[in-house]
Amino acid sequence: MTYIRKPEWLKTKLQSGLQFVHVNNIVKEHGLHTICSSGRCPNMSECWNKGTATFMISGEICTRSCKFCNTLTGRPLPLDPTEPAKIAESIQLMNLKHAVVTSVDRDDLPDGGAYHWAETIKAIRKTNPDTTLEVLIPDFDGKTELLNIVIAQKPDIISHNLETVRRLTPSIRTKAKYDISLKVLSYIHSQGIIAKTGIMVGLGETEEEVLTLMDDALATGCSILTIGQYMQPSRKNIPVSEYITPAKFEEYKITGLQKGFRIVESAPLVRSSYCAEKHIL
Ligand code: SF4
Ligand code: SF4
Repeated sequence: MTYIRKPEWLKTKLQSGLQFVHVNNIVKEHGLHTICSSGRCPNMSECWNKGTATFMISGEICTRSCKFCNTLTGRPLPLDPTEPAKIAESIQLMNLKHAVVTSVDRDDLPDGGAYHWAETIKAIRKTNPDTTLEVLIPDFDGKTELLNIVIAQKPDIISHNLETVRRLTPSIRTKAKYDISLKVLSYIHSQGIIAKTGIMVGLGETEEEVLTLMDDALATGCSILTIGQYMQPSRKNIPVSEYITPAKFEEYKITGLQKGFRIVESAPLVRSSYCAEKHIL
C-alpha cells in the first residue's frame, strides 16, 4: 500500500487555548461524544477555540463501518435517556449561537434512533431557544416515517452527507446507497427544511464524477454543499488516493455556485460542520 506525504496546506495547529480547554471540560464532564475528536477533525483547534463543537448522540459505537470513518463499530450500548438533557446543557454552557448535532447509525433499533433524535432536538430547543440548530442525520434506510419524526421537530438545517461520488459509494460507505441518500435529501427539501450535503474528495473520484454529484444533489433541492479533503484518520481506514490542490477546491466552489447551490464551502480542511453557523439564512 502506498502512502502519500501530506502537503503543507493540510498542516494544522496544535490543540490548545483557554476556550479549547473549556469546551473539552464540558464534553468530558457530561460524558458526551463529539465527531470532532472521534473523527480526528483537523479543525479542532480552530472550532473549539471559537466555542463550536459537533456533538454525536446515540452512543459512540456505530452499526456501520464506512471505510473512511474512525468511529467505533460493533454492537452499540442501549441509548442513554439522559443524553438529550446533557447535550442541551452543554450547548447552553458553551453559549452556542448555532449548534450541530450528529449521530452514529443505529440500525439495531426499530426506529433507527429517530425518537432519540426528536428528544434531543426538543431538549436543545427548550434550553436554548435562541440557538439555531443543524442536524446531520443518518439515512434511516430512506424510510420517510422515520425521517418525519426528526423533521417534525423542525431543526433549521437537516444535513445528510453523500460522502462520495456514486461509483465509489458501495466500496466506501458499505451499507449506505447513493440513491437512498439522494431520496433523503429530496424528502427533507420537500418538507420545507434547508437540505445540506457534504462530500470528501481525494478518494479516487474524477472531476467529472464530482460535477455529476453536484447535479444530482441540486436536483433534490439541496442548497448547501461542503467539499473537503479526505484524510486517513487511522491506519485501519482506506489510504488517501490523492491530495486535491487548494486551486482545484476553489474551482469546485465556483462551479458549484454557478450550477445553483446557495452556499458551497470547498477547501482542503472543510468538514460538513465547518463554519456551519454561516449557513443559516
Ligand atoms: Fe468539530 Fe466540525 Fe469543527 Fe471539525 S469542523 S472540529 S467536526 S465542529
Ligand atoms: Fe461513520 Fe457514519 Fe459510517 Fe457510522 S455511518 S461508520 S458514523 S460515517
